[in-house]
Amino acid sequence: MIALYPGSFDPLTYGHLDVIERAAYLFERVIVAVLRNPSKTPLFTVEERLNQIHRAVQHLKNVDVDAFSGLTVTFARKKEASVLLRGLRVVSDFELELQMAQTNKTLAAEIETIFLSTSTEHSFLSSSLVKGIAAVGGPISHMVPQHIEQALRERSGPKEDMH
Ligand code: ADP
Repeated sequence: MIALYPGSFDPLTYGHLDVIERAAYLFERVIVAVLRNPSKTPLFTVEERLNQIHRAVQHLKNVDVDAFSGLTVTFARKKEASVLLRGLRVVSDFELELQMAQTNKTLAAEIETIFLSTSTEHSFLSSSLVKGIAAVGGPISHMVPQHIEQALRERSGPKEDMH
């Protein structure tokens, strides 16, 4: 069974990676799909994010990385994925995620959305939180892989003295 994991991944965090690693164990193949979303202004370009994710999932042989635009279910069908994978962190994720899953079901009845809950140590993590901390030079090494930390440091302002 092929699972498609769609998202912005601006940037990928250890929370995302945790979901990907667990999905790689459950599914034959996992495709991490970066949405080209013209209505959002990302910190990293889609190509930068694709490279960042590629490096982070190198150790997982059944994980591919791709970009898409348009409907997620259309891309899932093109990739022959029968599962859409989403992560659930906190209760506030639930309402929108349920609405999206139900909408996608009306668009493509043969595709199921499956949710993986976060491991507790990652439940607080979001890309925007990481960007916010990086912007003021705060510590993020426990939140993102090293090469993404480096990229965030290069893109964000000067380092604040934390001591
Ligand atoms: P989107 O803009 O589609 O929400 P994100 O990159 O923010 O894109 O998230 C992609 C998916 O990963 C979503 O299902 C989101 O709930 C999940 N996710 C985000 N952060 C975490 C985390 N810390 N742990 C587990 N899942 C997460």
